Amino acid sequence: MIIKELRTEYRENPIGLDVKNPGFSWKLQSERQGCIQTAFQIRVETDGDCVWDSGKVESDRSVLVEYAGNELMPETEYHVQVKVWDNYGETARTTGSFETGLFYPQRMEAKWITSGFPREEKALPVFRKVLSGEKKVKRARIYAAALGLYEIAINGTKAGDALFTPGWTSYHHRIQYQTYDVTDLWNESIKEDGKMELTVTVADGWYKGPFGFMLRPEIYGDKTAALVQIHLLYEDGTTGKIVTDESWLVTAGMIRESQIYFGETIDSRFVPEAESAARAEVLEHGKEMLTAQEGEPVRVTLRTPAKELLVSPEKELILDFGQNMSGFVEFSVHGKPGQVIRIHHAETLDRDGNFYPDTLRQATSIDTYICNGQEQTFSPHFTFHGFRYIRVEGMELQEINPAAFIACTVHTDMEETGSFTCSDERVNQLQSNIQWGMRSNFLDVPTDCPQRDERLGWTGDAQVFAATASFNRNTALFYKKWLRDLKAEQTKEWGVPHVVPNILGDQAAAAGWSDAATIIPWVVYETFGDRRVLEEQFESIKGWVDYITEHCGENGLWQNGFQYGDWLALDKEESADRTGATDKYLVANAYYACSCELTAKAARVLGKEEEAEKYETLHEKIKERFNEEYITRTGRVVSETQTGCVLPLHFHLAQEKYRDRIMQSLKQNIEAHKNHLSTGFIGTPYLCHVLSENGEHGLAGTIFRKEDYPSWLYAVKKGATTIWERWNSVMPDGSFDESGMNSLNHYAYGSIGEWMYKKIAGINVLEPGYKKFAVKPLFVKGITHVCAVYESVYGTIKSSWRCENGKITIDVTVPANTTAEITLPEKEGVIPVGSGTYHYEYATETRLEEDRFSMDSTLEELLSEPLAAERFNQYAPGMLDDPMIKFAYHMTMAELTAQAPQARPLYEMVIRELNAQSVR
Ligand code: BGC
Repeated sequence: MIIKELRTEYRENPIGLDVKNPGFSWKLQSERQGCIQTAFQIRVETDGDCVWDSGKVESDRSVLVEYAGNELMPETEYHVQVKVWDNYGETARTTGSFETGLFYPQRMEAKWITSGFPREEKALPVFRKVLSGEKKVKRARIYAAALGLYEIAINGTKAGDALFTPGWTSYHHRIQYQTYDVTDLWNESIKEDGKMELTVTVADGWYKGPFGFMLRPEIYGDKTAALVQIHLLYEDGTTGKIVTDESWLVTAGMIRESQIYFGETIDSRFVPEAESAARAEVLEHGKEMLTAQEGEPVRVTLRTPAKELLVSPEKELILDFGQNMSGFVEFSVHGKPGQVIRIHHAETLDRDGNFYPDTLRQATSIDTYICNGQEQTFSPHFTFHGFRYIRVEGMELQEINPAAFIACTVHTDMEETGSFTCSDERVNQLQSNIQWGMRSNFLDVPTDCPQRDERLGWTGDAQVFAATASFNRNTALFYKKWLRDLKAEQTKEWGVPHVVPNILGDQAAAAGWSDAATIIPWVVYETFGDRRVLEEQFESIKGWVDYITEHCGENGLWQNGFQYGDWLALDKEESADRTGATDKYLVANAYYACSCELTAKAARVLGKEEEAEKYETLHEKIKERFNEEYITRTGRVVSETQTGCVLPLHFHLAQEKYRDRIMQSLKQNIEAHKNHLSTGFIGTPYLCHVLSENGEHGLAGTIFRKEDYPSWLYAVKKGATTIWERWNSVMPDGSFDESGMNSLNHYAYGSIGEWMYKKIAGINVLEPGYKKFAVKPLFVKGITHVCAVYESVYGTIKSSWRCENGKITIDVTVPANTTAEITLPEKEGVIPVGSGTYHYEYATETRLEEDRFSMDSTLEELLSEPLAAERFNQYAPGMLDDPMIKFAYHMTMAELTAQAPQARPLYEMVIRELNAQSVR
C-alpha cells in the first residue's frame, strides 16, 4: 500500500494559504482487494518544531482531515507527514508542505496606488519602482492585488503564470490577493550594480471597464489601482520589505488600450520617456475586503497552432484553429516598423465560408498590434475572446504562416477528473464539446458564454451544469470561491441575483437561477465530501429558501414576480418569448421544493436537527400544495409539457400513485415530437434521468442518440466543437438563429454529461466524496462499449462495459478506502465490493449494434430491404397494395401506428427481423 498523493486544501504544496485549519487529503493505493484505512497520523512541523501531532487516530477518514494543532502563523512554511495503517496491517507514509499567506491582508502596509491619468487616457498605467543595492535572497514573496487587472514583472519578466489576476469576485465585498514565490526570478534579475526594476501594469478589467450587455462602465469604481507588498529574506539573514506607496512612479505603457469585450491594442514602438514619469497617487481605498486567492488561477492550459489558412469568398484572410474556445492568439511576426496588424475573432464562418462575428454582439474582440520592425511575438494581456477563427488584417497572404499563430486556451486551471469514451464517435464528440464548453466557461467565474457582451456569472447556467462539471474536473475550490461571492451578493432578504458577481442591479430571485445557492453547495458536498461548503453556505442556503417562503401567497406557493421559466425551450415556438411553454410557477415551486429539501439535508449533515425538521416539514407542505395546485385529482400535470412532467417526477413531488400517469403523458409528448426533446435549460438536465429511472431508459437512449433537430447530436453533425446556447443556433440549412442571442459556446445543454456518467457508465455517489458508490451501467442501443473513468478524491473509479457478439464484459475499478455496489446488466441483485479491480464476462442475447431500421423509419426506407415486402405480404397479405398504405409511403412507422395502433406489433416485428438481417 502506498499513499498516492497528499493535498492541502485540494492543492499540492500550496503557498499563500489563508485557511486557518486547512484540510489534508490523501489517496491510498493498494494491490490488495478490499483495502481500507484503519488509522492515520498527521504531524505538522515548522522549522523543526512540531505544531501538531494527531497521534494515531483509528479512522478511515482520508479526505479533508482538518488541521487541529497550535494556531498557524502567517507566512510560514509547514511540513506535513502522514502515516496510514490499513486493514492488512500495512503502513505507508508520505510528506508534503504548505505555506500560509498573510492571514491579515488588511494589515498590509502597502498603499493602493493609482495613476491620476485624465479620464480620457486609455493607455494602461505602468507603475514603476527602481531598486538599487539588491542582494541575493533566500526567499522572496510578492503579495499583490488590484482594483482592475494587474501583471507584475521584475525587469520585464512577469511573475507567475496566472492570468486575469486578481480574478473576478464581488469586488465591493471581496478582492483576492495573490502570492508569488519569486525567489529565483529575484536572484536572476539582480544586475551587477544591484539594480532592478519592478513594474505593475493595471487594466480596467471587470472593475472599471464597460461590462454587461448594457456596456456599463465603472461598475465598481472609476479608478484602477495596484497594491503590492514584497517580503524578502536575504541570504545574509536580514529581511526587506517593498510596498506600493507614493514613492512609485507611473507612466503610460505600450498597451494603449485594453478591454475584455473589445480587445487590446499594443504599440510595441512605444517607449515611455523617463521624464514623462509622474508620481503614483495614493488612493484611499479600504483593504478589509482582501482575501487570499481561493482556488487555482486562470492560466493558458493549451496551445494549438492554426490548422488552416483560408481565403474567404469575401477575400478575408482567415485562420482556423479547429476548435471553438476561450482565450487569445499569440503569433510571431517580423513586421515593418509601424505596420498595424489586427486580429478579429469569430466562433464560426457563415454558410458561404465568410467570417461571421455576429455571435459576439457588441464585444468586438479585436486585438491590434503595431510592429517595431523586429521579430516579435504578440499576445494580449488583459482580454480574452470566444473564437475558433481569426481574421488577420494588415498582413499579406504570403506573410502568414499558420504555424506561427497559436491559439492559447485560457481558463481556471482545474484538475481534469473525468473521461467518457464509447463506440459511438458522435457521442465522443459530444463529450469533447461538453469538456470544451467547460474549458470555455470557467474563467474565474462560471460564465454563460465566452464570446459576446455577457460572459457573466449566470446562476442558472452554473446550476444546471454543476454536476456535469464536477465529473469532468475538480470544481471544489472554484465553486466554493464563487459561492462566497453568491452569498456576498445576496440581498438583505437573502434573495439571490441572477448573475454573480452581480453587475445587473436589483434582481433578487428567479427559479432555477437563484437555486444555485442550494444546489451547487450540495453538488460540491456530495462530489468531494466537503462538509465545510455546507457549513460556510448554510446561512445563504436557508436564507434563499426563507426568501421564497416570504414571497409565497396565501396558498403557500411562489406564484409572483419575474421568472425565466424553462428558458429557451422549444415548446413555445410561436412567440419571441424565450421562457418556454411550461407554467413558470410550476417550475418555481418545483425548485422551491427542491431547495427546501436540500436545506433540510444540509441541516442534517451539519447536525442542526431542529432546522432539519423545520425544513423537512416545510418540504412536505410544499409538496402537498404543489399537488393541489399543479396535479389534478386524476393525476395529470396541469402543464403537460415535457418539462412540466419531468419536474414533479424528478423532484419526487407527485404522489406515488400518479407517477405512472405522468410518465404516460411524458411519453405521449415525446412521441408527438417524434422522439425528440422540446425542453429548455430547466427540463433538459433531468429529462433523460427521469426516463431512465422510470422504466424508459430505452427511450432516453433514443432521444440521446437522435441526430436530427433538435438533439445533442444534431449540433455534432453540424460540426459543432462546443455546446450551443440553442438547439437551433444553426438551422438545418446552415443559417443562424438571428434573434440576437445566439452563442455557440454555452455549456447549459452540456448538462447531459451527468446522465452519461451516471446512467450509461452507471457511476453514482452513495456516500459523500464517493466513499461509497454504485456502478450500475445501463446499455444504450447503438452503443456497444463504454469506458468512463472518474478521479474521485479517494482515487480512480472506472466503469467500462462491452456488449458484443453475444457477450457482456464489465470492468470496474474501486479505489482503496472506498466500497462499491455493482449491479450487472441483465443480472439480479447487487454485488457489494471493496477496493480492487473486477472483471465480469457472461453471455447475452442482447444486440446493441445499431439498427438500420426503427419506428422512425419510413415505409419507403423499410422497403429498401426486399425482405420487408416479403414479410408484409406474409403477415398482412395485400397490405402494400392498399391505396391508403401507398399514400402513406413517406410516413414513419411511428406515424402510421399513431393512426392504427393495432398495426404496431406487426411493424415492430418486421423492423426487428430486418435489423437482425442487416446490421449497419
Ligand atoms: C444568458 C444566459 C442566461 C439568460 C437568462 C442569457 O443572456 O446568456 O444563458 O441564463 O440570459 O436570461
